[in-house]
Amino acid sequence: MAVTITLSSTTKKFIRDVGKDYPDFTIERGRQEHWSPKSNTITFNPSQTPERIRFGILHELAHGLLDHSTYQSDFELLKMESEAWHLASQIGLKYGVSIPQDHIQDCLDTYRDWLHHRSACPTCGMHVLQDSDSSYKCFNCGTVWDVSSGRFVRPYRRTRK
Ligand SMILES: [Zn+2]
Ligand SMILES: [Zn+2]
Repeated sequence: MAVTITLSSTTKKFIRDVGKDYPDFTIERGRQEHWSPKSNTITFNPSQTPERIRFGILHELAHGLLDHSTYQSDFELLKMESEAWHLASQIGLKYGVSIPQDHIQDCLDTYRDWLHHRSACPTCGMHVLQDSDSSYKCFNCGTVWDVSSGRFVRPYRRTRK
């Protein structure tokens, strides 16, 4: 039996207020925090703490307002994450939500770790810069490896034969 999570009244009010101020966006429940450029929908995970839900919605709203629909490299993605948090913090003030720097840094660290992992050569371990939007090439040993381009896809690497 599916259990519907009841949102706190503060969260409900927050979502209502944001929806009113940004009528172009649809805010709905889902499994993962996400902004869809196609439908301009912000998805939040209702099982998170009310605080996390608010941070997440502000963050995804910021991605939307900044039109962060595509990126060319992992490094650019990290930059976009940082920009989105910056804007989310500013918008949050309007709603009395202050996003702690610790939270922002934790989230960015997740991306930094992810980038660090993706950029390591599977053959010799050297960290290199991205070669294209979907691959890396090691300047040390010549290995080329593909990386998945999805923003939320778990880091995985596959060496090209
Ligand atoms: Zn983000
Ligand atoms: Zn290498």
